[in-house]
Amino acid sequence: MVVLTTTYSQSNSVSVHHNQTVSAESMAHWMHCNGCYCQPQPGVDLKFYLTNCSHLYCEKCVASCAKERCKVCRSQCTTLMLGGKLPKEVENLFSDPIDMHQKFNKQFHQTLEFQKSHQRRLVRQLKEKMKLFGQQFSQFIEQANAMKGELKTTKAENEYLRMMLKKKKWNISCPILW
Ligand SMILES: [Zn+2]
Ligand SMILES: [Zn+2]
Repeated sequence: MVVLTTTYSQSNSVSVHHNQTVSAESMAHWMHCNGCYCQPQPGVDLKFYLTNCSHLYCEKCVASCAKERCKVCRSQCTTLMLGGKLPKEVENLFSDPIDMHQKFNKQFHQTLEFQKSHQRRLVRQLKEKMKLFGQQFSQFIEQANAMKGELKTTKAENEYLRMMLKKKKWNISCPILW
């Protein structure tokens, strides 16, 4: 495995966030100098440069192909020498897509499981609350029904007492009849 060491050209202002090693073997099927079409070779210390317009040049071509304007796209460019330390966005360009997919997949499942476990806990708590609320509501209905019954009894008693009182008044006002 060949590790490409990277530093920055003086004009480049991209900051370094991550450490990254990339193997020449993993890039053999696509990486090449956009000037002379040479490829990174294991055991050969050939530096490569990435332009901010996403073109690659080897150290032999960079001076002529990316001096001020990029030879491929003609835009003004700055260059980044590839190596051990790369910004995350550059690191991603040189990562194995299958590795990236697996990492993303793992992260995706971790995130999904994390959120789902919290969701399950929340739903469980809400169900408990609903159950408690249902029990309290049933108790309240029972109490209300009991009070309704008591009220009915009290009303009947009142009616009876009123009737008795009426009778008593009648007896007092007409004593001769009794
Ligand atoms: Zn070249
Ligand atoms: Zn370009």
